[in-house]
Amino acid sequence: MKNSKAYLSPWPLILQAWHTQRLGHALVIQGSQEKADLLATALSRQMTCEEVGDRGCECRSCSRDIFDHPDVLHIQPEKDRIRREQLQIVLQHINRPPLWSHHLVIWVDQAHRLTEAAQNYLLKSLEEPPRYVTFIFVTEQIHGLLPTVRSRCQFLRADPDIQDDDTHFDPDQFFADNDLTKEQLIQFSYWVRTQYRRHQNKAWLELWEASYQAFHHLNANGSQDLIKEILRDVFDHVRQ
Ligand SMILES: [Zn+2]
Repeated sequence: MKNSKAYLSPWPLILQAWHTQRLGHALVIQGSQEKADLLATALSRQMTCEEVGDRGCECRSCSRDIFDHPDVLHIQPEKDRIRREQLQIVLQHINRPPLWSHHLVIWVDQAHRLTEAAQNYLLKSLEEPPRYVTFIFVTEQIHGLLPTVRSRCQFLRADPDIQDDDTHFDPDQFFADNDLTKEQLIQFSYWVRTQYRRHQNKAWLELWEASYQAFHHLNANGSQDLIKEILRDVFDHVRQ
């Protein structure tokens, strides 16, 4: 995929791209570590789900800690660098099909810490990866990646384009409204995410995931009433 200056964001559009197979096999997630981690986690979950990726899925993969999933290979810097030798050990696994799911995720944390030798070593894998492989590079500094690497990647932004200040968001108003627009749903999703970051409570994370699914259903012309009813159920559960 050609390097594009356009960043794909926010999450509902990323999810849509995934479902319509328009997501590249090498992704760069740019943003603060915290936001980028959440996005990389959500993507890895989608990609390795053994069912259809719905919220609350209890498939073997969704029940597993994402950092302990056999089809998610996680690479982190060692002593501030990610060296070629470290990559070699991981990349020798990419020609084996996924063990549990249909997808193998190579998640490279702090990708700007890849040495130049490591990045050059990566190029061939980025050029012709097996069809079930997706590379996810998480970084706050995309210029730490060589132009040759960047040109093979699609860019996702973990920071929302939309103001996610939640002080003006009223969930009761959201549920009381008769209509449900994509913009409202995106605002709702950001508000939920802010709550999650504040409370670090798994129930909020579930609601956040539910709002992504809702966006997907809305895009597929699902019933607005039904979507709200489902969100409301999860929301009531969170507030308990
Ligand atoms: Zn699942």
